[in-house]
Amino acid sequence: MTDTIFALSSGRPPAGVAVIRISGPKAGAVFDAIAGPRPAPRLASLRAVVDPSSGELLDRALALWLPGPGSFTGEDTAELMLHGGPAVVAAVLRVLASQPSLRAADAGEFSRRAFENGRIDLTEVEALADLVAAETRRAHRQAVANAGGALREVLEGWRAEIVRMMALVEAELDFADEDDVSDSASEAVWRAADSLAQRIRLQLKLDSERGEIARDGYEIVLLGRPNAGKSSLLNALARREAAIVSEEAGTTRDIIEVAIDIDGWRVVLADTAGLREAEGAVEREGIRRARERAARAHLVVWLQAPAEDVEPDLATGGDLVMFHSKDDDGRHGETGISVRRPDGLDPLLNAIRKRLDRFAGEEPALVTRERHRRLLTECADALDSAASRNELGPELRAEHLREAAHAIAKLTGKVDVEDLLDVIFREFCIGK
Ligand code: GDP
Repeated sequence: MTDTIFALSSGRPPAGVAVIRISGPKAGAVFDAIAGPRPAPRLASLRAVVDPSSGELLDRALALWLPGPGSFTGEDTAELMLHGGPAVVAAVLRVLASQPSLRAADAGEFSRRAFENGRIDLTEVEALADLVAAETRRAHRQAVANAGGALREVLEGWRAEIVRMMALVEAELDFADEDDVSDSASEAVWRAADSLAQRIRLQLKLDSERGEIARDGYEIVLLGRPNAGKSSLLNALARREAAIVSEEAGTTRDIIEVAIDIDGWRVVLADTAGLREAEGAVEREGIRRARERAARAHLVVWLQAPAEDVEPDLATGGDLVMFHSKDDDGRHGETGISVRRPDGLDPLLNAIRKRLDRFAGEEPALVTRERHRRLLTECADALDSAASRNELGPELRAEHLREAAHAIAKLTGKVDVEDLLDVIFREFCIGK
């Protein structure tokens, strides 16, 4: 028998309302003991919440009784909407902890139960984690779509197509001795495999980059000689209303990041150690990190201070754009920026916007993680093998179809995922 778990599912008190969730076989009994009588399923009712050992009134709360299997976790669930004071929440949590066979939930444990009870698949689990973490409009939009099963539905459709192909090949193998069965059925299957592989690759091409950018952010590395104005630029951006976080590292040699919201995209700017001749081991390490970071960035912004005549000396995988810094009188136009003018950062922001426009699409992306991309590539590769390797017999080609179906099952969490679950659920907070 599984434990019954509980947690504060809403944010940290004090708050107007605090939601405590209880899920598992004892949820009903606990409801009766601390907030009884149990109301009709799924109907909010006002209840006195008491400590059953003393009868002390702890709060009056809106209470919900959500019997399994129709609840989020698939188990019997009780939800209490309490007043969100720290002492109220602490008292109710203490009472719950003292009830037999109840324990505090681990991070992500409610979602894990929902997954294990088949209420949601792994792509929906991931999207739920994204939904809770979303800071920008883009991240929010795609998390809402995928938490609602947008990716799952597409994957189920693809898997059904592959299963049908497998069935056709199977049927042909079974009747292979009979003269009146032609090979044309399996020829159609190989064409179908080819077409599906192409559709999967198209989806990957459309989605993966913008999906990951909407989720994790567009990464920009600021480079330039010492005193070029990198930290001033970062500070100016961080002071803007739109700045999301500002992580200040201990020394200027470390990388400092600021995440800002530009048109609903999360844009992460990293200020690295200035590129210069290394004097000591620590400087050399700082420069090595700066270069490494620049090689992975979507965009490298090189700041050129006035009266400085250096060429950017670095290899970057992505895009590189140069701006003249400290352009207080605006004489460099669209290639100059200044933290001393009210609109002095517009040229940089516009350059970023122009690049982000490339990733905007009507529909939110379905493929949003490296895990999705890897398994869908595996699936398309297997379909290609089935479709093109006509030197193999039909049994071996059918084996490739099976591999393709298996890759999708791994994506949705139907097979082979035990090792993955801990990694995925660790992203969650307690109470989700
Ligand atoms: P970093 O070494 O590249 O991080 O450069 P800093 O941001 O520390 O800037 C070096 C100096 O240039 C500081 O004295 C800043 O006040 C100054 N500075 C930075 N940006 C501007 C600007 O836009 N206009 C002017 N006039 N001075 C600037």
